[in-house]
Amino acid sequence: MTSIIDPSTIGKPQNTARRRHVRTLTGYTPDTDEKGKEKWPRGDEKVWKDGLRGVDKDVPDITRSVVHHVQTSLARQAYNLDEAGAYQAAALSVRDNLLVNWNETQLHFNSKPTKRAYYLSLEFLMGRTLDNALLNLGLKNKYADGITKLGFSLEDLLEQERDAALGNGGLGRLAACYLDSSASQELPVWGYGLRYQYGIFQQLIGPDGSQLEAPDPWLQHDNPWELPRSDVTYDIRFYGHSERVDGMKAVWSGGQEVLAVAYDVMIPGYATKNTNNLRLWESKPKRGFDLNSFNAGDYERAVESSNSAAAITSVLYPNDHTTFGKELRLKQQYFWTAASLADILRRFKNLDKPISEFPEYVSIQLNDTHPTLAIPELMRILLDEEDVPWDAAWDIVTRTFFFTNHTVLPKWPVPLMQHLLPRHMQIIFDIVTVEKKFPGDREKLARMSLIEEGFPQNVRMANLACIGSRKVNGVAELHSDLLRATIMKDFVDFFGISKFFNVTNGITPRRWLDQCNPLLSQLIADTLKLPKATFLKDLTRLEGLLKFEDDPNFQKKWAAVKQSNKERLAHYVQVTTGHIINTKAMFDVQIKRLHEYKRQTLNILGVIHRYLALKAMTPEERKKVNPKVVFFAGKAAPGYYIAKLTIRLIVNAARIINEDPETKDILSLFFLPDYSVSLAEILIPASDISQHISTAGTEASGTSNMKFCLNGGLLLGTVDGANIEIAEEVGEQNVFFFGHLTPAVEDLRYQHMYHPVPIEQKCPGLAKVINEVSAGRFGDAGVYEPLLNTIRQNDYYLLTEDFDSYIQALKLVDEAYQDRTEWIKKSIRTTAKMGKFSSDRAIQDYAQECWNIESNKLP
Ligand SMILES: *Cc1c(COP(=O)(O)O)cnc(C)c1O
Repeated sequence: MTSIIDPSTIGKPQNTARRRHVRTLTGYTPDTDEKGKEKWPRGDEKVWKDGLRGVDKDVPDITRSVVHHVQTSLARQAYNLDEAGAYQAAALSVRDNLLVNWNETQLHFNSKPTKRAYYLSLEFLMGRTLDNALLNLGLKNKYADGITKLGFSLEDLLEQERDAALGNGGLGRLAACYLDSSASQELPVWGYGLRYQYGIFQQLIGPDGSQLEAPDPWLQHDNPWELPRSDVTYDIRFYGHSERVDGMKAVWSGGQEVLAVAYDVMIPGYATKNTNNLRLWESKPKRGFDLNSFNAGDYERAVESSNSAAAITSVLYPNDHTTFGKELRLKQQYFWTAASLADILRRFKNLDKPISEFPEYVSIQLNDTHPTLAIPELMRILLDEEDVPWDAAWDIVTRTFFFTNHTVLPKWPVPLMQHLLPRHMQIIFDIVTVEKKFPGDREKLARMSLIEEGFPQNVRMANLACIGSRKVNGVAELHSDLLRATIMKDFVDFFGISKFFNVTNGITPRRWLDQCNPLLSQLIADTLKLPKATFLKDLTRLEGLLKFEDDPNFQKKWAAVKQSNKERLAHYVQVTTGHIINTKAMFDVQIKRLHEYKRQTLNILGVIHRYLALKAMTPEERKKVNPKVVFFAGKAAPGYYIAKLTIRLIVNAARIINEDPETKDILSLFFLPDYSVSLAEILIPASDISQHISTAGTEASGTSNMKFCLNGGLLLGTVDGANIEIAEEVGEQNVFFFGHLTPAVEDLRYQHMYHPVPIEQKCPGLAKVINEVSAGRFGDAGVYEPLLNTIRQNDYYLLTEDFDSYIQALKLVDEAYQDRTEWIKKSIRTTAKMGKFSSDRAIQDYAQECWNIESNKLP
C-alpha cells in the first residue's frame, strides 16, 4: 500500500512512472526537396474505411510538424527535449489537424440556418485528450511511427498528459461521452461549462490510511487543447436592485459586474471531419483594479474585487450533499448560465429571425438542476431586453428547455437568491403567481410550488426545471419510473405522462472499448472481419460475436486479451505501489465515488468476512481456494466523514490482509488512490467481476457498470439503475444479482426506524465482522465506531438486510469462476449484447425526442 505522501507527486500527471529524460530528437532530417504548403493529415479516410494500418506516406509530415512546434511554439531546441516537451509538441501538431476540421465545421453549420442543441453541464469529466484525438482522427498509427522516428514512444508521451478532471464522477463523464457521440454522429451540439482553475481535488492517502486532499492544478502547464477567445466576453451582473417599470418588465442595475471569457475545446467526432465545440467560461474582474481605492492607498481593497471575480471559476465543488446554500456555488451557477445564454442568443440573432422562432433554432438540455437558473434568465432577457410580453416569453422558454433529472433535489434560500439575483427572484415569484391558476387541491399546490414554505423560504430548483421545460427525463428505466411515481407525480397528473420519459445513459465505445482496450477491439475486428469503425459506430454489431462463443480458438484468444489487461494493471500497481500481484487470481473491482448509498462499506466488510473465513480454514482447505484480488478506487467529498472512514478501513484492512503469510496468496486487496478517467481506463479492461451494489432505488443509472460489461467483465450487483437493463440484454443467467428490491426498501427502513432489531439477531455474520473491526483487528480500535454505528443503529442503506445474500452471491461468483470455459462464454455474451448502452443511442434518443436536430456531415 502506498501510504507516504510524496509532495513531489502533487500536481504531476497521474498514473505515470515518473522520470525525466532530456534527449535529442533523432531520425528527423528535414526533407529539403519537399516544397510548398505543409499538408496536415486531417484524418485518415483509408483507416476508417478499410481498417488498414496507415500507410506511412504522411509520416514525414508528422515529424516535420512536431519538430516545427518544438522549435517555434515551445521555442526549444531539438537536442534538449524531455518527454513533457515532446508531448506538448505532439499535442500541438495534432491540434493543428483538429483546428482545420473545427473551423470548417463551424463554417458549415453557419452557412445556413441550422437548429442546434446545447448541453449545459456544470461538469465535463474529459480525461486525457491526445489519445482520443488520434483515435478519432484515425492517425494513431501514423503518429506512433512519427514519434518513434523522433526517438520517443507515443505511449510514453500519452502518459505525460494530465486528465482534465472538471467533474466529480458519473454526471460529468456522461456529459463527456455525450459530446463524443454528438460529434461522431455529425449533430450540431455544443457543450457549455466552466473552466475551473482547479478540477476535482487530487486524492492522497495519509500515513494513518485516511484520504487527504490536494489541489489539482491542471492548468499549471500550458493546455494545448483549449483556445482562449479573448474576443468572446460577456458582462455578468450580481446583486444590485431590480425596479419594475411596467407590468412584468423591470430594470436590474447596480451591484457587481464581472466578465465571462470564453475558452473553446475542440471535440472531434470519430471517423468524421465534424468537430464540435465545448465552450468553457472563465470569470475575470471587469475593470481590473478599482483605481479610486488604489489611489487612496487601499491596495488590499483594490485587489479584493478582482479576487472575488476570479474566485467564481476557481474551483470545482466536490459534490457534497451537506453544503447546500453556499453563496459562491449559486454565483457559479448563475455566471455560467447567464454567459451561455447570452452567447446562444447572440448566435441566434445572427440568423435574423424573429425572437418568437427561438425554439425553432435552439434546444437547451439541462444536465440536472445545476443550470436551472437559465429558465428565469431567459425570461429576464425576453421580458426586459427583448420586450416580449409575459405569456409569449413563457411560451418560448417552455419550448426551449429540456431537463434531465439525476439525483438530489436542491433548493436555495429565498433571501440568498433575493440578495444575489433580485430580478430572478422577482421572476420566480411572478411564475408562482401565474402558477396559482393551476387547478387542484391546496396540498397538491403546496407540493408543486416553486417556493417551499418555512423560515427561510426556499426555491425548489427541480420544480422550476420541471415546469420550465418542454420535457423531463430520468436516466434509466427504473429511475424514470420512480420519478413519475414519486417526486414528479403531481406534475405527471397536471402535465400528462408524455412530458416525462426515459433516456437510459450510455458510454462512448471509442474511449471505453477501442482506446482503453485496443487488444479486445482488434480481436473483435479480426473475428467479425469488420473494420473497427463499423462496430465502434454501430455497437449493436457486437452481437456478431455470439456466433463464436463456442469456438475454443476464439475463447482462447478472448481469455488471452483479458490476461494481458490484467498484466498491464499488475504492472501499474507494481510501479506505483511496489506490490506484486498474482495475475492468475480473479480480479474483483469496485471503482466509483465513495458514498454510503454505493455501499463500498458492504464490499470491504465482505472482504473481511472472506479473510476471517480463510483464517478459520486448515492449510489443506486453503490450498483449494481460488485466489482473488480486490481493487477499490474512488474519492470521498472532503467533508463526508463517514465515506472517508470507509476509505481508511479499506486501506488499513489491506495492510493487514496483504501481509498475512497464511492468506496473502489467495486474498489481497488494494485501494488505488486518486481515481480518474485514466485510472478507470487501466482498471476496467482488467476486471473479471465488478461490483455495483447500491441499495435498491438509490443509483439513478450508473455508467461504469456499462464500461465493465463492454470490456467483458461480469457484473455483481443489486437490482438497481441500469444493472436491470444490462441483465435484460445479456440475460439474467450472466449477471450475479442479490439483495432486496426497490419496493421493499421503504418498508425495511420504516421497520429499522420503529422496530429495530439488534444486529446480532438480524445478521450474525455481519455482526461478527463488525465486532472484529470494532475490536481493532484492523488497527485503530475505536476509530471506526461512527461508521459501524451507521449500520448498528439506523442502517439506512440496509447492509444488515442485504449482507447474507451478498455473501451468497460472492460464493456463486467463486463457483462460476471455477468453470473457466463457461465463464469466458458469459464474458463474450456480455460484451456482445452491450449495443444498447452506446452513448450514440442515448444521443439519438435526445436528438429525436427532445432536440429535433439532424445530422449534417461535412462534405
Ligand atoms: C464512469 C465513471 C464514473 C461513474 O461511475 P459509476 O460507477 O457509474 O458511479 C465515475 N468516475 C469516472 C472517472 C468514470 O469514468
